[in-house]
Amino acid sequence: MLVERIPLGVYAVNCYIYGSRESKEAMVVDPGGDAQVIVDKLKDYGMTCKYIILTHAHGDHIGGLKKLKALTNAPILIHKDDEELLMDASKNLSSRMSMEPVNIKPDRVLEDNDKIKVGECTCKIIHTPGHTQGGICILANDILFTGDTLFAGSIGRSDLYGGNHKQLINSIKTKLIDLDGDIKVMPGHGPSSTIAKEKQNNPFLR
Ligand SMILES: [Zn+2]
Ligand SMILES: [Zn+2]
Repeated sequence: MLVERIPLGVYAVNCYIYGSRESKEAMVVDPGGDAQVIVDKLKDYGMTCKYIILTHAHGDHIGGLKKLKALTNAPILIHKDDEELLMDASKNLSSRMSMEPVNIKPDRVLEDNDKIKVGECTCKIIHTPGHTQGGICILANDILFTGDTLFAGSIGRSDLYGGNHKQLINSIKTKLIDLDGDIKVMPGHGPSSTIAKEKQNNPFLR
């Protein structure tokens, strides 16, 4: 499987392409900005976008969503508890960012433990509320896409609509930190890490 990080948009959100070199199926995680860049990358790899999946609905993660949907016609997937945010430009904060307000209805809503198939990989949805109520992490073999739940050396903020600090810590401690230590953490902002490194060093998880 191929994974590529593409920082996009005004807040440099990490958009990821995760795709199969064999079947040429890919998913795009968090299209934060210029959708043409994503589509060009997919074209370079000869891959088609099977899913557009959102770790959560915040404006910085969905800046390129409308255009990517128009260019690929791939279904938009989000956890059911963030559907409300995705459909409301003031709740998802896009109306307050230097971007076009985004309000879109998802094609499919996800729940904890749902499985998404991309090429040879069966990706698992892990519901990790706390940054938003419908925040998810996506476990794809040895990679964990963590959105704004867990960063290298930090965690997401919980002072925005639907945020809850205690719940966020609880999500990370009960659902993420005991995963295999070698699993690579690929967050919504900043550099990547591993589960082992975060377990040992992340000051918010002491
Ligand atoms: Zn966020
Ligand atoms: Zn973010």
